[in-house]
Amino acid sequence: MRDKVIEQMEKRGVKLDDIAGIVYDMQSPYNEDLTLEECLHSTRMVIQKREVQHVIMTGLALDKLAEQGLIDEPLLSIIVSDEPLYGVDETLAMGIATIYGTIGITSFGYLDKVKPGIMAQLDNKEEGRTNTFLDDIVAGIAAAAAARIAHAREVGEIDDDIS
Ligand code: MG
Repeated sequence: MRDKVIEQMEKRGVKLDDIAGIVYDMQSPYNEDLTLEECLHSTRMVIQKREVQHVIMTGLALDKLAEQGLIDEPLLSIIVSDEPLYGVDETLAMGIATIYGTIGITSFGYLDKVKPGIMAQLDNKEEGRTNTFLDDIVAGIAAAAAARIAHAREVGEIDDDIS
């Protein structure tokens, strides 16, 4: 299922490298020997989790349904216009950000404000595209992957390290 989820995100314009780059920018000031490869690995470990895969699939499905006009009003307009007061996209993605504890929440809030790299591109409402959920999902994955690195470096490798 992990490969399927990765493929679905790529179809929507998000590569794991893009997310790993965000993780690197967040964590490299605290870990000067950090590599992009380690960030990519951490990103993969986050997506390895079934609960994360479920959030990603749900968010992507809602973006796609909205794009196709298959959601009832008034919700359709709310999602398509990415209304600032609609916080369900953040709430959903927060479920990813918190899997490695509260450090992820801080990073998520930061990313949501700064919108670095691919997040800004996703937010740049391209004609006919709806990425209301996807930008937050990217933030959630990056925040979790960054928190995972913070924990791993603090206490040694963590137990989910199976690959
Ligand atoms: Mg959003």
